[in-house]
Amino acid sequence: MNELTNILTTVASAITLLTGTAKLLPTSPERKAALLALEQAEQAIQQANVRLAADLGYNLCQCTFPPQIALRTQTGEMRCPSCHRDTNEDYAPMRSGFRPRR
Ligand SMILES: [Zn+2]
Repeated sequence: MNELTNILTTVASAITLLTGTAKLLPTSPERKAALLALEQAEQAIQQANVRLAADLGYNLCQCTFPPQIALRTQTGEMRCPSCHRDTNEDYAPMRSGFRPRR
């Protein structure tokens, strides 16, 4: 799993570098197409990161799409990096075997 995380991080860094380089190109249809392709590649990497996080048991927050990956704070809460909500509120009922009604 750690190797997969490293691969995703490396690919994301490469996309960032390529995006920076593509922005140096003169305005043209080719520049626009390159930036669009890189944006789609970045979204694909983000979706792969979310899938990996879910497989590893991280809480996901649905305040954005793709979802945000909640990280544990020093006080033990699983906070969303975007809306700062404690996502343990969503997961506690499911972890106790109770499924909330939708
Ligand atoms: Zn959120």
